[in-house]
Amino acid sequence: MDREQFRKAGYAAVDRICDYFENLESYDVVPKVQPGDVARLIADEAPQTGEAWEDISKDFDRVILPGITHWQHPNFYAYFPANTTYECILADMYAGAVSNPGFNWLCSPACTELESKATDWVAKLHGLDHTWWNEGKVGGGVINGSASESCLTVCIAARERYLRLHPNTPFSELVIVATTQTHSLAAKAALILGLEFVAIETKEEDDWALRGDGLRTALDELEGQGKKPFILIATLGSTSTGAIDKFGEITTVTADYPSLFLHIDAAWGGVFLSLPECQDEAFLAAINARAPASPNDVGDGAICAGGEVHSISSNLHKSGLVTFDANCLWIRDRALLTSALDVTPPFLRTAQASAGLVTDYRNMSISLGRRFRSLKIWFALRSYGVTGFQKHLRQLISRAQVFKRALLDSDKGVPGVVLFTPRRFSLVVFRVVTLPDQTNLAGDERLKLENALNAAVIRHANEDASLMLTPTTVGGKECVRVAVGSPNTEERHVLDLVEKIRRLVDRARDEVGA
Ligand code: PLP
Repeated sequence: MDREQFRKAGYAAVDRICDYFENLESYDVVPKVQPGDVARLIADEAPQTGEAWEDISKDFDRVILPGITHWQHPNFYAYFPANTTYECILADMYAGAVSNPGFNWLCSPACTELESKATDWVAKLHGLDHTWWNEGKVGGGVINGSASESCLTVCIAARERYLRLHPNTPFSELVIVATTQTHSLAAKAALILGLEFVAIETKEEDDWALRGDGLRTALDELEGQGKKPFILIATLGSTSTGAIDKFGEITTVTADYPSLFLHIDAAWGGVFLSLPECQDEAFLAAINARAPASPNDVGDGAICAGGEVHSISSNLHKSGLVTFDANCLWIRDRALLTSALDVTPPFLRTAQASAGLVTDYRNMSISLGRRFRSLKIWFALRSYGVTGFQKHLRQLISRAQVFKRALLDSDKGVPGVVLFTPRRFSLVVFRVVTLPDQTNLAGDERLKLENALNAAVIRHANEDASLMLTPTTVGGKECVRVAVGSPNTEERHVLDLVEKIRRLVDRARDEVGA
């Protein structure tokens, strides 16, 4: 393709993308393809000679779109959302044009300096105080592709920190600690690093959040077994129910375990910190608090202070209007990352870095080459502004509130549906239960029947391509999650969802006899 062909094809692609959004509602959310259907339409090898762009671009419609699950669809309520915006689509075009791997400042000063500014912008937007900003030269942010990557990165930093404090600790004694509600990213980090993983049980009466007493008991038990818990992965907005661990209680406990690194996975919930009305609910004060100097502190400064949050990460690519992928990871002391990850062979040395004048982001992340993700964050935040960003989040919460109220309405709602946990931000988790005439059922029998009922609701929902819902099981109870997240979801959509759920529940009750 030459430049003039690109110009033409580019205009056409933008037109096609606009048509896609214009007609979004005409698509099924879930594609009607079976495993292998898409692969069958794709050649087994790259063509020997180049094909015409006209043919290639047509295949986006013919081969790809029929196999796409439409995450931008207003009736997509599964998992968590993956917002996209026109600003970010354009940013990705520009980033593609200058395509460069931005690992050192010198590779592209703009990529590095924008990343520092963009993570500061987002930190400020999230209410994270100056101790998390690059501006202060101690703390700071880095953009990764995913919360999983950030979790793995801080596990490496925490492991190195622990080994500096306790040299020669055998790896076999090191433990990554999380809870049963932590996303699988923590177990996966342990798997990758070849370390033990322990999940602390959380309780229904705590809305599945980790409390201080549960943490203390678990840490004492681990230490009693000769284990060395070196990092705790806490959560702000768990995947299953939106649970928010009690960070104030947690830091009170971790003050007594100064070698324990505390990371908060705020992959989904983090962006809601941008709303002042959500900051108390999300314990922002505890996230920002610094540990007072304590006789228990080991070593010097932030590297070793226990009793405070050391790192936090938030996915803007979920509800944060930034096109996949964009995870911001902030750390209280950048040296925690650089001392663990800086490998500088001669060919990567630069005068600016040697003089300590610049940040080389490869030393704060796993990969060397890195995508230019800050551009889309910058474009989106400038175009929406803080007020536009907040308006979007408030709209999501409002839709979830409308849905919850309609679902549970005593006259017009769906009978026999109860909230499993309180609505959290824009996530509603409910459970279909047996009707009052089945009160004679014994506890176990009822649980089994109700689980079958909820599983049937999800199964039938998944047969209906016009919406997408995902289930979860917490404390042995099957539930239905409704994650409102698309800027395209209007009130009429969530009200329509209630009617669909009514039909799904009726069908499920007929099927399982509940
Ligand atoms: N953490 C939480 C709480 C999540 O809900 C998710 C995904 O939904 C993740 C982590 C994983 O995020 P990523 O795909 O960015 O690794």
